[in-house]
Amino acid sequence: AAPVSMMAGGAKKILVLGGDGFCGWPTAVHLSDKGHAVTIVDNLSRRDIDTELGCDSLTPIAHPEVRIAAWKELTGKTIDFVNLDVAKEYDRLESLIKDKRPDSIVHFAEQRAAPYSQKGTKQKRYTVDNNVCGTHNLLTAVVEADCCAHIVHLGTMGVYGYGTSGGEIPEGYIDVVLPGGRDSRILHPAYPGSVYHTTKCLDALLFQFYAKNDGVRVTDLHQGIVWGTNTDLTSMDPRLTNRFDYDGDYGTVLNRFLMQAALNVPMTVYGTGGQTRAFIHISDTCKCIEIAINNPPAEGAQPEIFNQVAETRRVRDIAELISKNTGVEARFLANPRQEAAENELDVSNRKFRALGFEPTKLNDALFEEVQDVTQKYKDRCIPTKILPASFWNKKRAQEVAADK
Ligand code: NAD
Repeated sequence: AAPVSMMAGGAKKILVLGGDGFCGWPTAVHLSDKGHAVTIVDNLSRRDIDTELGCDSLTPIAHPEVRIAAWKELTGKTIDFVNLDVAKEYDRLESLIKDKRPDSIVHFAEQRAAPYSQKGTKQKRYTVDNNVCGTHNLLTAVVEADCCAHIVHLGTMGVYGYGTSGGEIPEGYIDVVLPGGRDSRILHPAYPGSVYHTTKCLDALLFQFYAKNDGVRVTDLHQGIVWGTNTDLTSMDPRLTNRFDYDGDYGTVLNRFLMQAALNVPMTVYGTGGQTRAFIHISDTCKCIEIAINNPPAEGAQPEIFNQVAETRRVRDIAELISKNTGVEARFLANPRQEAAENELDVSNRKFRALGFEPTKLNDALFEEVQDVTQKYKDRCIPTKILPASFWNKKRAQEVAADK
């Protein structure tokens, strides 16, 4: 492939696909702040889904054009924005990659809510079409453009199945002896728990194929549940504010609980709350992506896989932690999800730690940031939207209805 970067001093040209989203926007400004030339590519579908769900980010968020103008005004740095559907506008995507010749492409541009992906046939089909076609379009466009950009994709811890292997979850691969007696290193078996998680497993196979067949360099980050709202950079000005989802489909568990605590209503814990999940703060998401960009795999190597997690916690323990801080009680609801009532989760993040990642823990002061945000904007919250609105199957829907 043709050489790409013409920029000085280690600065890179970076496309951030999905750069208008919850993880994408803080990552885009973080990378711009580090001196990289950032272009956000986003079709604003997440904002459209807000309209479909009759909900909105708790924090008022500015349009991408306003955000990047504010960033320029405050820092003198330029971020470009291209409104493009990665899954549907293949020709424009290929032209963009040919034109920009990026060094790295961060790929956040997927439908990311497991509950939304289980809502109905329309949302199931959309999630598969959008996520799998988008990832495949990106891979084939990079090959066709003769561009050796390193792709950094946001995957999820959910590809492993939570705690099903019974031991520590390694970073992506396991060593096995094949039936014929040969040693092999294979992708950890996939065991997804929703249509959304299934698309991430399919992504992993596409990455494996394009790395082997075309030498595309890919890093797949198996990320935990992201909590928090703003980073130091997005806190600089209200026009840079990041989105905060609190609804039953897009609100991640800790943010949902803090929203309920701010409203002084019980935190709704699903089932026994015995599910153990991996967590990471939004500021650490940005730092980990920067580390991944700085450490691309060699051409022809298997995709690099990191577990992008800071710690694991049981859902009911998180509710207890918030309860201690706020005095708000937990309420146990029938679980809308088809999943084990209790699970252990032991995750390795040694590769990231070795590269300098120092995780922010839930006990750290940043917890207060989300409490402040939920308090400040609680008048914008529609309380009924916090409750589960998507069910994994008909039985789960009936159980939740009977429990109301
Ligand atoms: P988000 O929905 O806030 O952001 C995704 C962005 O991608 C949105 O701005 C959306 O408009 C855009 N997008 C979606 N499809 C697109 C398409 N076809 N073309 C162009 N743009 C498109 O989600 P997020 O929370 O920022 O998550 C980003 C990535 O990180 C996702 O891939 C998600 O699976 C992964 N992830 C997120 C979490 C979390 O807790 N938020 C946890 C693990 C992994």
